[in-house]
Amino acid sequence: MSRTKTNASKETLQEENERYVLAMAAANDGLWDWDLRTGKIFFSPRWKQMLGFEENEISQIPDEWFDRIHEEDKDRLRTMLDAYLNNDTSSFEVEYRIKHFNETYRWMLIRGLAVRDSNGKAYRVAGSQTDITDKKLSEEKSIHDALHDMLTGLANRTLFLDRIRQILKKRERNPKLQFAVIYIDLDRFRLVNESLGHVHGDELIILTGNRLKGSVQPGDTVARLGGDEYSILMEDINNVDQATEMAEKIQSALSKPFSLGDKEVFSSGSMGIAYSNIDYERPEEILRDAELAMYKAKRLGKSKSVLFDKNFRRSPISPIDLDTDLRRALDRNEMSIHYQPIISLRDGSISGFEALLRWKHRIRGNISPSEFIPLAEETGLIYELGQWVLYQACLQTLYWNNERDQDKPLELSINLSGRQFTDPNLVKGVLDNLENSGLKAENLKLEITESVLMENAPRSIEMLNQLKELDIKVCVDDFGTGYSSLSYLHTFPIDTLKVDRSFVTDMGRNYKNMEIIRTITMLAHNLKLDVIAEGVETAEQHAQLSALGCQYAQGFYFSRPIDSNDASNLIQLDRRW
Ligand code: C2E
Ligand code: MG
Ligand code: MG
Repeated sequence: MSRTKTNASKETLQEENERYVLAMAAANDGLWDWDLRTGKIFFSPRWKQMLGFEENEISQIPDEWFDRIHEEDKDRLRTMLDAYLNNDTSSFEVEYRIKHFNETYRWMLIRGLAVRDSNGKAYRVAGSQTDITDKKLSEEKSIHDALHDMLTGLANRTLFLDRIRQILKKRERNPKLQFAVIYIDLDRFRLVNESLGHVHGDELIILTGNRLKGSVQPGDTVARLGGDEYSILMEDINNVDQATEMAEKIQSALSKPFSLGDKEVFSSGSMGIAYSNIDYERPEEILRDAELAMYKAKRLGKSKSVLFDKNFRRSPISPIDLDTDLRRALDRNEMSIHYQPIISLRDGSISGFEALLRWKHRIRGNISPSEFIPLAEETGLIYELGQWVLYQACLQTLYWNNERDQDKPLELSINLSGRQFTDPNLVKGVLDNLENSGLKAENLKLEITESVLMENAPRSIEMLNQLKELDIKVCVDDFGTGYSSLSYLHTFPIDTLKVDRSFVTDMGRNYKNMEIIRTITMLAHNLKLDVIAEGVETAEQHAQLSALGCQYAQGFYFSRPIDSNDASNLIQLDRRW
């Protein structure tokens, strides 16, 4: 009987062993098992194979493992293992590098579990090892991608600013340290892009990057900041002349012809240099000064370089530069939308918002839409800007409407400039944005100025009919500044008149203006049009407009145009005027 029992338990043991061997073979992980009393460590065949070794090529001593660990990881792994074995930590899990047979390092994730005696002292520790090299490489790649420009592989703005931050820190310890930042903007890049196409444009960007890299010293950083702008950080130089010499060297490197396809192209750059003789505290400041100097260089003509001088901060930038900057404003996150509430005078509630574009230029600060919208019109950038405003503002309004869930949804007013309104793709663009954002057509109102509508009346009517069919509302902006008669305007399929600010501003003092508003309001009533008075700044104006029967009002008296957060708060307050 006892014999059978022994046999049975032997069989179970054998089965268990087999199961273990099978599991070991099947597992993708390497296994290890360290007997701390004998000091011997067992490595599974897979463990050895993961490092490129045959079964008999690795012995049972722990050094087989420790000797292969990367110098930078060795102490950390040892410390964590000891802490675990001493019961200072509750688990053992480390990512580290170990040398493969082919002399490269592989990233591994190691986990272990200890077996302890009754005193809690570990006498055996075993675990698994997983190859995580691919995961690590892709992590490294995404970190790399986040800090580098995709096209050229150069540092991007984030990394570049970080490098400047590092050197500013170094200078705190060593005040004698000198450095310079050179800001480079190619001179005729847009021409290349437009005449030879984007593919060659991209090629020129890459080749330029290569030449810049070829010009600098090993420790220097070359970055692409976007578009055709580059910047170089020269570390550890002895005097400012080294920076100006570098600018000359770059200039001559760029002056050699580039071959793009079957064409030879000549390029040059305008450069600005900021030097560490000024007490900079933030990396953005030094980059901004280098850029300001670059603008100065641009104004001197092509292929010039200029050293920054504190006086530059006072002088404005010419419109030519503004045009280039406007192209980049969206990419640089300099654009935002402000919202100004439109108040229903019947109950004093907010009936909707007018979206007003804002541009915060990183050097000049806020630039008024009255300045940059005409520029965008001229350059054709208005299409891209317009689409952006439409999409962002539609999304925002839909969000508000969903949050609020009141029976009367907020209405969004969007301004359209002349070129936008006459764009044959306008209707399609608006529809796409409504569809992509999810806002209902009936909650959108397009503001078009009286003068734009009148410029080509038949074409306007056709466009307005298309919009009407889609349930999109139309408001005539700055009404009263053109010379149209209201009865003529009524043949246009429109919904709302927005009385120009100039009439509202001095309605208290100027009797004629008051009468104009009264007449417009009365006629509009008869024609079933709504009237909004814009530019309301005082309580008195508010009261007068209410008395005149004007339905809606907008102006600083109620609220200035505010950002979306403030507008959200305003909506939540549910304030009445
Ligand atoms: P607008 O459509 O007539 O917009 C009203 C302007 O009056 C806004 O100026 C607004 O800030 C200002 N305003 C509002 N209430 C008051 C007030 O009580 N007193 C005074 N003094 N001003 C007030 P803003 O934002 O500078 O915009 C100027 C113009 O730029 C707009 O005139 C509009 O024609 C154009 N614009 C603004 N955003 C866009 C846009 O996204 N696309 C297009 N195409 N044009 C835009
Ligand atoms: Mg408007
Ligand atoms: Mg207006």
